[in-house]
Amino acid sequence: MELDEFRTLVDAWLDADADELAPPFTGTGTLDEQMTQLAKVKGAAYDAGWMRWGWPSRVGGLGGSSLLRGYLGEALTRRGLVEPGGYSMVEVLAPTMIDYARPELAAEMVPRLLRGEELWCQGFSEPGTGSNLGALACRAVRDRESWRVTGQKVWTSFAQYSQRCVLLTRTGTPESAHRGITAMFVDMTSPGITVRPLGTMHGGAEFCEVFFDDVSVPFDRTLGEEGQGWSVAMDLLPFERSTALWHRSAFLNRRLEQLLADAPPDSLSATEVGDVFVQLFALRARSRGTQYRMAAGEHLGPETSVDKILLAATEQALFDLVGAALADDVVLGGDAVGEQWRAQYLYSRAATIYGGSAEIQRNIVARRLLDLGAET
Ligand SMILES: Cc1cc2nc3c(=O)[nH]c(=O)nc-3n(C[C@H](O)[C@H](O)[C@H](O)COP(=O)(O)OP(=O)(O)OC[C@H]3O[C@@H](n4cnc5c(N)ncnc54)[C@H](O)[C@@H]3O)c2cc1C
Repeated sequence: MELDEFRTLVDAWLDADADELAPPFTGTGTLDEQMTQLAKVKGAAYDAGWMRWGWPSRVGGLGGSSLLRGYLGEALTRRGLVEPGGYSMVEVLAPTMIDYARPELAAEMVPRLLRGEELWCQGFSEPGTGSNLGALACRAVRDRESWRVTGQKVWTSFAQYSQRCVLLTRTGTPESAHRGITAMFVDMTSPGITVRPLGTMHGGAEFCEVFFDDVSVPFDRTLGEEGQGWSVAMDLLPFERSTALWHRSAFLNRRLEQLLADAPPDSLSATEVGDVFVQLFALRARSRGTQYRMAAGEHLGPETSVDKILLAATEQALFDLVGAALADDVVLGGDAVGEQWRAQYLYSRAATIYGGSAEIQRNIVARRLLDLGAET
């Protein structure tokens, strides 16, 4: 199916089922409510076929360009039917499964994620290792039947709701750095896993500490080969900075429109609104280019760091405007709508951290795109 036809059909479906798909809460809802809503919308979109377009048939997809799934996420986000963070986990993790899991495992698992029957999380960061991912310490050793995993992850988004985790472990010596990392697909119900949600300043306990105490992971859950985990991670991160960011930019567009509707008269400067509009436009233009390169089969790499830098700057500039225009809501919260502005304002401060910090993205641009020398 072509993009134009897909757009028309998805929009008609969303218009027709608008009441049924709408969230039952005002504002952002609690995290539990958001997750229930996400499963409902993904399930409905899968049953109607839309959620399957843009994915290969070997994982239950209907084929077609990846632009189709870019549009679906955009349409759902723009209408406020899903929160982009939870929805886009599909874009971050499903491509990794398709490229690195055993074909039978990918065929069994990916449809569950698309259908909203399951949520998966990304177990990369650790207490001592975020930016410096190559130094991760969560250890996996072989016994006769399986890997045995012991260690800790942190900032694992939605781990408390997740049935599976794409986990990075150290299987080589501590000195082996990125060469000694192995990726695996872990059932979150495995004995020995403890998940502790972390409170955040914006209210929702989105991320968690996850502890692994001698957890058994079958060898056939290895993603790629032993020692190939760094490649798995490097291939995954550009997905986190491509379609997922396209969805997020649709969310920011919607928030800018809503701000213009909610802001008291004379609380916004036209010049500042214009500046944010231009930033948002630049972000969307850049992200659109990335969508098209991905659809053309190009391998995405460090250039997606430019998209992430633009996203973080735009998100914070937009919510700086929110802070200025809706100061009472942002400081005090209030009704459901005020709470929503407050939560989203506070969350925007994380934009320069999640998916790789702004400084690290600039390092990647400097070192790998502009060839400005190695890290000292
Ligand atoms: C909302 C949110 C959701 C997240 N979800 C997940 C998730 O689902 N899974 C997951 O694995 N992780 C997740 N993370 C973690 C995220 O990837 C890390 O927080 C991020 O990579 C930074 O790592 P760190 O927190 O360890 O900070 P550090 O690496 O300790 O960095 C601290 C500061 O030092 C700077 N810095 C570090 N090294 C350098 C350098 N070489 N040059 C210049 N500056 C440097 C950083 O930019 C930062 O400002 C999430 C984070 C947030 C905020």
